[in-house]
Amino acid sequence: MSQAVGLRAAAERTPLLLLGQGADPDAERGTICPGTVPEPSDPTLVQRAQAARAALGDDVFVLGHHYQRDEVIAFADARGDSYKLAREAAANGAPYVVFCGVHFMAETADILTPPTTGVILPDLAAGCSMADMAEISQVEAAWEDLRAAGCGDAHGAADATFPAAITTVPLTYMNSTAAIKAFTGRHGGAICTSSNAATAMRWAFEHGQQVLFLPDQHLGRNTAVRDLGLELDDCVVYDPHLPAGGLSPHQLRAAKVVLWKGHCSVHGTFLPEHVDEVRRRIPGVNVLVHPEVRHEVLCKADYVGSTERIIATLEQAAPGTAWAVGTELNLVGRLAQEHPDKTVVFLNEKVCFCATMNRIDLPHFVWALEELVAGRVVNRITVDDETAHWAQVALKRMLALPGS
Ligand code: SF4
Repeated sequence: MSQAVGLRAAAERTPLLLLGQGADPDAERGTICPGTVPEPSDPTLVQRAQAARAALGDDVFVLGHHYQRDEVIAFADARGDSYKLAREAAANGAPYVVFCGVHFMAETADILTPPTTGVILPDLAAGCSMADMAEISQVEAAWEDLRAAGCGDAHGAADATFPAAITTVPLTYMNSTAAIKAFTGRHGGAICTSSNAATAMRWAFEHGQQVLFLPDQHLGRNTAVRDLGLELDDCVVYDPHLPAGGLSPHQLRAAKVVLWKGHCSVHGTFLPEHVDEVRRRIPGVNVLVHPEVRHEVLCKADYVGSTERIIATLEQAAPGTAWAVGTELNLVGRLAQEHPDKTVVFLNEKVCFCATMNRIDLPHFVWALEELVAGRVVNRITVDDETAHWAQVALKRMLALPGS
């Protein structure tokens, strides 16, 4: 019995979802990949990938997120963060896009590419734990709680019977499902990335008195406090697992920013003591973190920036300088290799890789390409027209922001 078949059989016996196995239609976890994925021990995987890639030529465009494994990123035609890659896919025009990243990124690529473009995710189990923390039914319920408290959007809530006293503008991080992006578009809000979150939040406050920030509480808080100068007390956390989010109507009305209780399972693990420890270990080290880290960590860091900003900062850094980087380990390892003239270390040596990003491995990549060579499109990610329309509305509002 192959490893994949064995895991599948085990998944059928247990009500719990093994990583990468089984289906959960309410989450970003996918279903079992149909077919036989090569064994990881196959010594010909690299040659098989090269051969399939060559056979497909311009019919396929391979995108690799910065957090992907080295063995996969080596085959990427373009590298980048989620939004850069989706735009690359839209501009390229290849009939097939193999997206080496996670599910929400492939959804965004499908939204931004023509209907004739097939977007393929090599392993459907490559979801995102942060995106999974905001399900559409939970967000709709939260919106009702806001409406009950006298908040809400000017269009939806301000009907003749229920005028909203406070206009709430949803602001949604790119790391979210297409359904949440569509919710944002329907309710007058916009999408943001870690690069333009501050600009987007200023825009939101020009259109309302309150922001509902989804789904990453840390990026929302860090943006509100560090970039917009709000107080920590201006933010409240809405917990979708508690009645009314665990907040009273008064707390909801008083908040300037309502933060969704979601976080990144990688960036959320960095702690202030990790900053203290690396400063003890490497005197003079520069601490550079992604804005998905906790606010206490951000306050102790020297620099903060998106994935692209982190890469640019290391490129521009002077030889001989030392950097402790608080972001995903695959990227930090690659930066260390690419900058041997600088000391580049991981902020917390105990943190592992992003487990779902790592689902995309060489066996799944080879399988997806070889199926394409055989004329079979596997693991195609599609977003329905209605959802795609409203998600586009929210994405276009982001594109209209200054500097986007
Ligand atoms: S690094 Fe965090 S935000 Fe990115 S895919 Fe992994 S869990 Fe999601």
